[in-house]
Amino acid sequence: MPAPNQPPQPQAIPGVKHIIAVGAGKGGVGKSTIAVNLAVALARKGLRMGLLDGDIYGPSLPTMLGLHDATPHSHEHTIYPFEIHGLKAMTIGVLVEDDKPLIWRGPMAHSAFQQLVTQTAWGELDCLIIDLPPGTGDVPLTMSQILPLTGAVIVCTPQKVAQDDARRALAMFRQLGIEVLGIVENMSYFIGDDGKEYDLFGKGGAEMMARSLGSPFLGSVPINTALRRNCDGGNPGANFHDPQLAEAFNHVAQQVQQQVAVLKLDQPELTVH
Ligand code: ADP
Repeated sequence: MPAPNQPPQPQAIPGVKHIIAVGAGKGGVGKSTIAVNLAVALARKGLRMGLLDGDIYGPSLPTMLGLHDATPHSHEHTIYPFEIHGLKAMTIGVLVEDDKPLIWRGPMAHSAFQQLVTQTAWGELDCLIIDLPPGTGDVPLTMSQILPLTGAVIVCTPQKVAQDDARRALAMFRQLGIEVLGIVENMSYFIGDDGKEYDLFGKGGAEMMARSLGSPFLGSVPINTALRRNCDGGNPGANFHDPQLAEAFNHVAQQVQQQVAVLKLDQPELTVH
């Protein structure tokens, strides 16, 4: 445990080349949805991917990956990740009982998260995606400092209020010296059964904000009922059979890979070797 007012020293995970955090200024914007589908999209490209659900306030990975009845295997001090949908996955949900809210304080969340991340047997990974808790409070801030991050992806919906929160998330990462790989606009637009595009929340708002803050824009994801169904049903692979969703998530994944290549010339690229 770091001394008071001392930032924790980031600790690398042996065998893991890149660690990317997915954050959001507030809850409900689709942060976990983007984290899961980004991980699956990169795994489908042939990368060895891990996914860690660190959202202590509402771990969604058990639902989104269909892990509810699964119990993690552990041996002595090693926890074995779930191998599902082409990913190695672990969730802080294993430490939280479904219907019992836990009051987490910074240091408690810090040590639980650190334990989970360092004791999980990730093996060799090209990239580990971390689904952070939403917001810019003590807990996401501390978690962002526990691991040496390649960078962070921020998820935002198009509305002005969501942008304000995303701006704060961006400022938090920048203040911590963490590269912001870019911003994803979720729930960007809706395509009706009539094939028409409906602009419900102000499509392009997050893109404009990204440009004004000098941050890359990684792509937009539409509101899509199949996406909601597949996420609630624990079947993210099905999103890649839907041309609209496959295109959106593959684009975001490709943009993330490109940003890693641009920013980290001295480090391994996020590609299949
Ligand atoms: P967060 O992690 O930001 O709290 P989630 O990813 O858990 O948000 O998403 C909240 C809910 O919204 C989930 O039921 C999810 O399936 C749904 N959802 C997220 N993005 C979309 C989208 N683009 N289209 C339809 N439903 C979505």
